[in-house]
Amino acid sequence: MIKDDIEKKTIVGNWKMHTTSSGARDLAQGIVDGLVDESIDEEGASIILCPPFPYLALVGEILKDTHIALGAQNLYPEKEGAFTGEVSPTMLLDLGCKYVILGHSERRHKLGEPDAFINEKVKVALAAGLDVILCVGETLEQRKANQVEALLDRQLGLGLANVPSDALRRVSIAYEPVWAIGSATHHATPQQAEDAHSVLRTRFGQIFGEDAANEVSIQYGGSVVPDDAAALLSRPGIDGALLGGASLVVNEFLAVVRVAIAETRSVMQSA
Ligand code: PEP
Repeated sequence: MIKDDIEKKTIVGNWKMHTTSSGARDLAQGIVDGLVDESIDEEGASIILCPPFPYLALVGEILKDTHIALGAQNLYPEKEGAFTGEVSPTMLLDLGCKYVILGHSERRHKLGEPDAFINEKVKVALAAGLDVILCVGETLEQRKANQVEALLDRQLGLGLANVPSDALRRVSIAYEPVWAIGSATHHATPQQAEDAHSVLRTRFGQIFGEDAANEVSIQYGGSVVPDDAAALLSRPGIDGALLGGASLVVNEFLAVVRVAIAETRSVMQSA
């Protein structure tokens, strides 16, 4: 996904394996209703909600006729077939998904997904017509061992290997340091996030060229809460935020959206 013409910030809600059908309905409806509030204008931010697979249809119904997009948290890289328990890109499109999150650290580390498999998913998702949010990020051990740059280079290079250049405008990156995800104590500083985004943009440029690097949207994820959203989203090269925990609470999610809109407006005014 390329940064919007006016560099609109993107806020992604990753609900992970949370909610029930009534909880998902209330959460989605609360966000939609909150955006009707005159103080929030969804035109100022790109907003994507990624509920669990079983609730995609009901959340999609609630998001219909709004500017909020529907995304999935994963897919299996085949059109159809004997893959018990898996979900294809065609099914996601059928349910109204525009986006899919791939390479999330929980899938890499808890479910053992290697880069090559993630790359397969990226290519199949793009070919099917989905926009991809590719997550990358180092563990605490890798950070302590000064391996952040090498790790990001590797995950980005392998994750996007052989992605056709005409699909690049439908790819965005989420930098998510594993040590900062779902953590009350470990938060990346805005400087750490800015530095990592710069490494990723440079690497993206080496692979796909400078224009593509300037256009690609890179979001930050790792226990973002309303209180630190402004410090992160005002940094150069931080084009949005991917929220886990804060996306499950209507008012927290809306508060981050409000910050994103304010940032978008301040960029527009200074342009
Ligand atoms: C995530 O789900 O990718 C995430 C960043 O979660 P949290 O905001 O809870 O750290």
